[in-house]
Amino acid sequence: MDYMTLNTGAKMPTIGYGVFQIPPEECKRCVLDALDVGYRLIDTAQAYRNEAEVGEAIAESGIPRQEIFLQSKVWIDHAGEEKAYASIEESLQKLKTDYVDMMLIHQPFGDYYGTYRALVKAKENGLVKAFGVSNFFPDRFVDLVECTGIVPAVNQIESHIYYQQTKAREVYARYGTKVQAWAPFAEGKMNLFRNPVLARIGKQYGKSNAQVALRYLLSRDMVVLPKSVHKARMVENFDVFNFELSVEDMSAIAALDGDSSLFLSHYDPEMVKFLINYMKNKG
Ligand code: NDP
Repeated sequence: MDYMTLNTGAKMPTIGYGVFQIPPEECKRCVLDALDVGYRLIDTAQAYRNEAEVGEAIAESGIPRQEIFLQSKVWIDHAGEEKAYASIEESLQKLKTDYVDMMLIHQPFGDYYGTYRALVKAKENGLVKAFGVSNFFPDRFVDLVECTGIVPAVNQIESHIYYQQTKAREVYARYGTKVQAWAPFAEGKMNLFRNPVLARIGKQYGKSNAQVALRYLLSRDMVVLPKSVHKARMVENFDVFNFELSVEDMSAIAALDGDSSLFLSHYDPEMVKFLINYMKNKG
């Protein structure tokens, strides 16, 4: 396994296991399997509603806590300094731990400046070892850093072969912020697992499309967070550190970039639902 160094000096594994959309009843078994395979970064979130099961799996695994890089995210319901701080304490309770290695702001929505202050305070008080953001496009990202003078250790953003974020990553790199790629397989959209370019390249190395897709993102200095509920696929997705893509392979995959999101749009029905509820509750 490889690691990269954060702006805090801490080491972060370059591959992590993501638990988005894993129902609570399956989550503990999945995380135990992932830890058994060798994953040491676990990515959850308050909004995934499975922090408790992640915590149970870690406790049951017998792996020393300090060997696991545990991260979660503050959801938009808890935006604002006080609410966010309280939500971090609640996350720690659910995760059955005294600290997380990384806490992210899940979305730049509501009083996320207040949330950022809560993260700073949580770090000072030892509740989080490092903090960062997620889904911050370059404009919000630069605004946050320039206004606070505090640089997030990580920005977790959608990144896969069809949306490579090349220009945006230049911005984050200038500040020394590391990028974590969410949906590194684009959740299988656009037939990623059967993409003929990946298949042709993979054949040279005896690797699957999934492995080539992850290797590409790793070679672009991103952390990858593949999700699978199947142990055999967890093993496959973890087996990406014993081959290198050639310059020609890298260019062929770079050419697959469509440079636009496959998930986010200005009309996001989930966000509109949230806004309607938010306005109703406000009265
Ligand atoms: P991924 O791109 O990781 O794709 C997951 C899908 O790929 C699942 O359907 C899985 O099926 C399938 N799959 C996994 N491995 C293989 C394989 N080797 N061969 C064939 N199919 C495979 O999508 P996610 O959305 O889950 O993203 C990964 C993680 O990123 C999340 O779990 C979460 O931690 C993070 N994330 C963060 C977001 C944010 O807003 N910050 C948003 C979205 C994700 P199966 O499980 O059946 O194997």
